[in-house]
Amino acid sequence: MKDSSIENGTIAAIATAGSEGCISIVRLSGPDALNITEKITRSTKKPTEAAANTVLYGHIVGSDGIDIDEVLLLILRAPKTYTCEDMVEIQGHGGRISAARILRRCLEAGARPAEPGEFTKRAFLNGRMDLLQAEAVQDLVKAQSEAAANMALEQLEGGLSTAINELYDELIHLLADLEATLDFSEEQLLLPVYDEIKNLNELIINKIEALLKTWQQGHILREGAAIAIIGRPNVGKSTLLNRLLDKERAIVSPIPGTTRDTIEESILLNGIPLRLIDTAGMRTTECDIEREGIERTRKTIQRADLILHVLDASQPLDDEMKAFWREIPKEKLLYVVNKIDIKRYNHAESLPKNRIFEVSLLSPDDAQRLKRCIHETITSAFHLPDQAHAVISERHRDLLLLAERSLKQADQLMKGQVEENTLYIATHVRDAIEQIGKITGRVYYEELLDQLFAGFCIGK
Ligand code: GDP
Repeated sequence: MKDSSIENGTIAAIATAGSEGCISIVRLSGPDALNITEKITRSTKKPTEAAANTVLYGHIVGSDGIDIDEVLLLILRAPKTYTCEDMVEIQGHGGRISAARILRRCLEAGARPAEPGEFTKRAFLNGRMDLLQAEAVQDLVKAQSEAAANMALEQLEGGLSTAINELYDELIHLLADLEATLDFSEEQLLLPVYDEIKNLNELIINKIEALLKTWQQGHILREGAAIAIIGRPNVGKSTLLNRLLDKERAIVSPIPGTTRDTIEESILLNGIPLRLIDTAGMRTTECDIEREGIERTRKTIQRADLILHVLDASQPLDDEMKAFWREIPKEKLLYVVNKIDIKRYNHAESLPKNRIFEVSLLSPDDAQRLKRCIHETITSAFHLPDQAHAVISERHRDLLLLAERSLKQADQLMKGQVEENTLYIATHVRDAIEQIGKITGRVYYEELLDQLFAGFCIGK
């Protein structure tokens, strides 16, 4: 799909991180990439005469004729490149200054600075990859764990695109069948035609629902599972956070109510990213700041994937807390009964057996055991190893939800007389086609692309 809206110039950007390194890469893409390179280099062979996929040795020369850096030039020719355009990657010695000077020379010679994600945007507009794959490129760059990187790679290689394209094709088929019924009179149509239409619609809804179920897995691997640490003041919440982080972050103090705000930290637990949120202690209070903190705790609980409720084995359970548990879905709750070194009450008697973990957070061994337990709970609750084709972005999930809604509306209408409602049904199916098309970019508009690529790195 070649699009006339692509601003054709030749773009340039530093593609490596802006810090000290062994090599820095300046990337060029566009019709003048080879010419521009030739203007600023002294090399073994002219870049414009070099074959595709070859490496030239040379020097980048300043406007004053003095060498700026010794470089290798990677010559890539259209269409078999990342952007489907002529590209050159100039590998210079690492470091900010050298890369910035090479980039400046490229701009002086006629390139323009690339916008964030513009290389990938060109790859998309030139049909090299679909939108799902383009988004996966950025996910791969930003992946915080091996599992998230694997998932992004799977998406980049087209795993999820295949599933979405199948849905799209089936929807087109469904629409064609519906429209065909309009061309015939009721007498000419066989009843099974309508049954087939209903069945196909149901089948597509089921497939969308199956994809939506994978969202939580994908979201956890990408964003990290949100683990809320809650409990009364002084039970050991901050100690728990510090044990999990293996460092002293939250202020641990024997004065109740020290953690007044929520504190969020990220860790990688055996490859699974976790976002640990230490909340304000839960107690009825007159203090405005603390009351605000407690309100935030409630909000944190609502968006948490797992809640670690810390209890103190040296203190009795109180009814207020018990009432509070009723607000939380049971499968999300793990009771960490702390301070068993000074245990005076047997909380285990009044709590669900398979959701309790007794510890003394002062003991490093107990903290390790607790880490293993959290890992097992998260992996089994979200079936994390089984992660093929997971929907990982909120954008995709929202579009799938919209498509599902349209098809369910179509389904409702099919329960009546399909022949009388065909036009309305077709409108809902068309809406679903548009939503699904927006996932892979079969349907797109400029603002959508601008929004998506604005979050990318420059040079990607
Ligand atoms: P928070 O208010 O819930 O965040 O509680 P902190 O983490 O600040 O801990 C309150 C106090 O309990 C501190 O003095 C901790 O050292 C102490 N503490 C934490 N865990 C244990 C434990 O397992 N046993 C004992 N005896 N004290 C603990």
